[in-house]
Amino acid sequence: MAAQRPLVVVDLQGQWRLDDQPSLARAMASAMAMAELGDPKSLRLGVTGGPSQARPLQGPHQSKLTKQAIKGLKARLPSLGIEWLEDQSELVAGVSEVGRCGPNRLFASPPIPLESFPRVFADFRRQLAANGPVEVEAPIGGNSGIDAAIDGASRSDGDSRSSFPFAGDELSALRHLQHFVHGSAGLRNYKQTRNGLSGVGFSSKFSVWLSIGTLSVRRIWAEVLSYQAINGEDEGSQAMQQELLWREFFIWLELANPKNFDQLGGIQGRSYEYLEDRDLFANWCHGNSGNPLIDAALKELNSTGYLSNRVRQWVASDFVHRLRLPWLWGARWFAWQLIDSTPSQNIGNWSYLAGVGADPRSFGSAGPRYFDLEKQLKIYDPRGSYLKLWS
Ligand SMILES: Cc1cc2nc3c(=O)[nH]c(=O)nc-3n(C[C@H](O)[C@H](O)[C@H](O)COP(=O)(O)OP(=O)(O)OC[C@H]3O[C@@H](n4cnc5c(N)ncnc54)[C@H](O)[C@@H]3O)c2cc1C
Repeated sequence: MAAQRPLVVVDLQGQWRLDDQPSLARAMASAMAMAELGDPKSLRLGVTGGPSQARPLQGPHQSKLTKQAIKGLKARLPSLGIEWLEDQSELVAGVSEVGRCGPNRLFASPPIPLESFPRVFADFRRQLAANGPVEVEAPIGGNSGIDAAIDGASRSDGDSRSSFPFAGDELSALRHLQHFVHGSAGLRNYKQTRNGLSGVGFSSKFSVWLSIGTLSVRRIWAEVLSYQAINGEDEGSQAMQQELLWREFFIWLELANPKNFDQLGGIQGRSYEYLEDRDLFANWCHGNSGNPLIDAALKELNSTGYLSNRVRQWVASDFVHRLRLPWLWGARWFAWQLIDSTPSQNIGNWSYLAGVGADPRSFGSAGPRYFDLEKQLKIYDPRGSYLKLWS
């Protein structure tokens, strides 16, 4: 009887990709080495989402994307000789080892000790810079031979007005990354375009794939560096690095403040006054807030799951200043609807705008930052195109 080949299983921990997964790369390398030696006990390799598939409840938009990601991943496994293991019960027999994939971060360990982690981004940047240029470990994996000249990301069905018309799978993420960074003016012009309100090209849309782990943030960083090696450190690529560091800042800020990060008083432990008006909130959720711009934004959010950063800021600021509702309620609606829903980023940004988080202006007596929507529209949408699109 042929000897049972040992099975090595790698738990992807909800990071639905093959690229830049060090545990998986190590397991694949040992399986290949044993097979080359003709070892009859050469390894079988399997991947699973495993017990860690239990992620926080996902809303409809992100869950559709995750399904596309898992489908795309499963389709690629057979040609790599990797088995898909649906659930725990398949893991019981014959598993010789389980590897686990890590979180999607630039830094594997805290870049600054958590006990003294800064509460504002500028201090985080300053302290990182104190040790020289930011060092990020190179991603594991190679150049996949993608043609950057075209955006080869698959399209997803849905509202044709969506700023994120793509599918959630890894190959779509990698193709869009190459096109945005190397094959178009996306990265070069990013500093000027990033405050756009709608459309495919004004920002990178990386957040969506980052949130479901089909794109590694270290892969993005490495591609930005390779762009800079050719084009120099222009303002577009520097602005992108800055934004990726914002993401990183909120990840570590949450870990440094586990007790109050997602509480109403935020990391400042500040009192926050609000009206507990459930009818007003229900109307807001469905795009009947009494302000046409905010209603348009909620229509876009509910229909597509995506909002530009600028529009997210307007909605959160209006929620806090005009409606005076508890900011955590707004954050919860965003968490359910957003296609890139990520607790650290959602809460980090909402608490910032509610004046209880990392906004330096809100420390002391200044209170939350206020966006005058009429003025903002004059600057960012002088022709009223956004309102027209979503009214
Ligand atoms: C109220 C509110 C809620 C938000 N909720 C989320 C959320 O749940 N998930 C999420 O990923 N982002 C969230 N953001 C941050 C930001 O709006 C999105 O990351 C960005 O709009 C995504 O589009 P993009 O990838 O095209 O961004 P780009 O402008 O192309 O930025 C590139 C990357 O930088 C990072 N980044 C950009 N802006 C921010 C920011 N303000 N904070 C942290 N990282 C940033 C993201 O990883 C993004 O993918 C929120 C912002 C606000 C104001």
